[in-house]
Amino acid sequence: MKISETVEDARATSRSATISGKRVGLVPTMGALHEGHLSLVRAAKAKCDVVAVSLFVNPAQFGPNEDFSQYPRTFERDRKLLEKEGVHLLFAPSVDEMYPKGASTYVTVENLSQKLCGKSRPGHFRGVTTVVSKLFHIVEPHAAFFGQKDAAQATIIRRMVRDLNIPVEIVVCPIVREPDGLAMSSRNAYLDPQQRKSALVLYRSLMRVQELFNHSERNAARLIAAGKETFAQEPSMRLDYFEIVDPGNLESLSHLSQRSLVAVAAFVGTTRLIDNIELGP
Ligand code: AMP
Repeated sequence: MKISETVEDARATSRSATISGKRVGLVPTMGALHEGHLSLVRAAKAKCDVVAVSLFVNPAQFGPNEDFSQYPRTFERDRKLLEKEGVHLLFAPSVDEMYPKGASTYVTVENLSQKLCGKSRPGHFRGVTTVVSKLFHIVEPHAAFFGQKDAAQATIIRRMVRDLNIPVEIVVCPIVREPDGLAMSSRNAYLDPQQRKSALVLYRSLMRVQELFNHSERNAARLIAAGKETFAQEPSMRLDYFEIVDPGNLESLSHLSQRSLVAVAAFVGTTRLIDNIELGP
């Protein structure tokens, strides 16, 4: 596995693969890897000849009072995991390499970036779309792999790629969960055993909505109320949002007559967790 720390080196490596007729897949990550990330790597391996993984804790997507400095950084462990998966290129730039002094250009997907997590994390999606478009220009992948775990992110990246005519196929892979249902996340490492138990309410509330949906409930307000009611059983959690939206444009739905995204975000202590399910045809 080649490790590149510079834009120039990563681009040269990826371009030489493309020139020799190989299809390059990119998996963008912030490291502290878990099975969710590795599922993206495996999907990339299945669809591409060369797999590049980027590992970069992107300061631009963290708010001033968020966990940028505490975010888990486990480079050696991540490197070994990726080596074992047969990854070809690990791009691990420094902050200065990605954002040279004076960097002042951003990519913003208007409107969508203010929905769901964008409401409580102003600037978050602008940071995501900026870094992802930079990674696309650096690695020039044929395909890029993202997790359904960050469903709004996937919608926003698809919109960016469409609007800016970026020649990359976006592949979104299913959420990988712990055996008890908790969605895997690098931030789960922050949870103590009690918080880890409380955090299960995210999945439980989604399963409650799924259950009512399976019993033919299609009214969004009633489904949301049921989800929130389940949530209220775990008073140590602070709900950020519980919404049902159109996964194509993140607009709220009142009636579930189409594919619908049920998305939840909540704090346990200072840790903010998200989860979602899709319902419908
Ligand atoms: P992160 O390192 O948290 O920025 O995540 C990197 C990529 O992994 C994103 O596309 C996430 O959506 C994806 N991802 C994170 N957790 C999971 C999970 N539990 N299942 C599937 N994909 C995930």
